[in-house]
Amino acid sequence: MMLRYSNINRFSGAKAYRNNTPRVITRKRSIPSLGLSNLSNQDRTTSFNYLSPKVAEIHEKEYSIQRSLGDGRVEWSGATPEQLTFMQTVYDINYTRYSRRGTAYPELSNSELDTVTGNYKLRKAAVPKFKELLEAARAAIVANGVNVQISLNSAYRSPEHQFNLWMDYFPNYYNQTRTHRQSLEGGEYGDKAAQYLAKYVISRISTPGFSNHNNGLAVDIRNTENGEYIRNSSLASWITKWKASWLWSWLVDHANTYGFYQETSINEPWHWVFRASNLTSSQGLKDYAGALEKKVLRLRQHVPNEKEYDVVGRIFKKIVRGTPEFATLVKNENENIIFKDEEGTGADRYMTDKLSQKMNRLADLVIEEWGTHIKLRVTEAWDEDNEHASHSIHYEGRGADITTSDRDSTKLGRLAGLAVLAGFDWVFYEDNSHVHVSMKK
Ligand SMILES: [Zn+2]
Repeated sequence: MMLRYSNINRFSGAKAYRNNTPRVITRKRSIPSLGLSNLSNQDRTTSFNYLSPKVAEIHEKEYSIQRSLGDGRVEWSGATPEQLTFMQTVYDINYTRYSRRGTAYPELSNSELDTVTGNYKLRKAAVPKFKELLEAARAAIVANGVNVQISLNSAYRSPEHQFNLWMDYFPNYYNQTRTHRQSLEGGEYGDKAAQYLAKYVISRISTPGFSNHNNGLAVDIRNTENGEYIRNSSLASWITKWKASWLWSWLVDHANTYGFYQETSINEPWHWVFRASNLTSSQGLKDYAGALEKKVLRLRQHVPNEKEYDVVGRIFKKIVRGTPEFATLVKNENENIIFKDEEGTGADRYMTDKLSQKMNRLADLVIEEWGTHIKLRVTEAWDEDNEHASHSIHYEGRGADITTSDRDSTKLGRLAGLAVLAGFDWVFYEDNSHVHVSMKK
């Protein structure tokens, strides 16, 4: 509850900011009322039917506090009352969604930030690391004789700034989804339409207070190749262009060295996040490592939200002991990992080098999260006994099933969240007994 009050303070400056900022003006249209302007709290609760009643109730209470103080109210120039109500509903759905995963980042003070260049700021600890990254990238550009410029498009954004961006972007998303929303049961302003648009929006812009830009840890890189600025746009064609660029492959190979990672829950090749938890706590970063990403997956959720084979690729063939393929696997001997090894053959310890590295990182995160008495437990990794479905990623040692050593099923959602942070390519909170993770070849 207290944290909601800090939200209220965060938005107190939003109005002043908006008055000085050109607004997106959308043509005024007459839209027949569908009765949504009277959407009650009860209706809102039922629209979040994936929440337990208890959780939904808590959020409703938070809403009433938020609302009575006029916090988080969206604005849309030229919108009809129906459109504005609809926009508020979409915003509220996403705010609730994010609130379930963790608390909003508080506004950062100037003493917590340093300048990278110009107006671009990041958390103090991230600044020298990002400057090193820039320097290394520029040196590589020269060494490789490529025509590439790297700079910044965005770094720290205050929650107010994020709130304004959210409102600025909304009319576009509204228009882009209009035809589809009209085809849904309940019409373009119905509950289904609101849920649909909320999902559409959430994959394109983070809800204010929950973006790593608000936490001073995310940078959006500006990439110009052969004189062409490769846009940071969520349109598939630009993402494809980004991922075909020289800079993208350089970043994939080197950004981790400086503590910068892709955020796997979104598909933004330009967006890199500094992960304090992947550097050691002795570097003085522990103080805000906890605020990092309180990511918790819900049962049956996987990250990214694509099919496993589309992310990590199908298996080529089952790896058999004693073959050259088997020799490419490594044996994980990490003492901070418990291997179930019910086969008694040590098979669970064999995995690809990539999988093994992420497993070691996750083992550290588990201890960081729950203390040294809880360890990461691997119940299955490489499988030589045909215990999985015929195309299972386990047969190539690229997949593993994990729990915590205490087998506490209430920890699995957070374990899956930590696995996302550890950098597994695909993470699936599969059932009440385990989380499944896998890696590309
Ligand atoms: Zn970004």
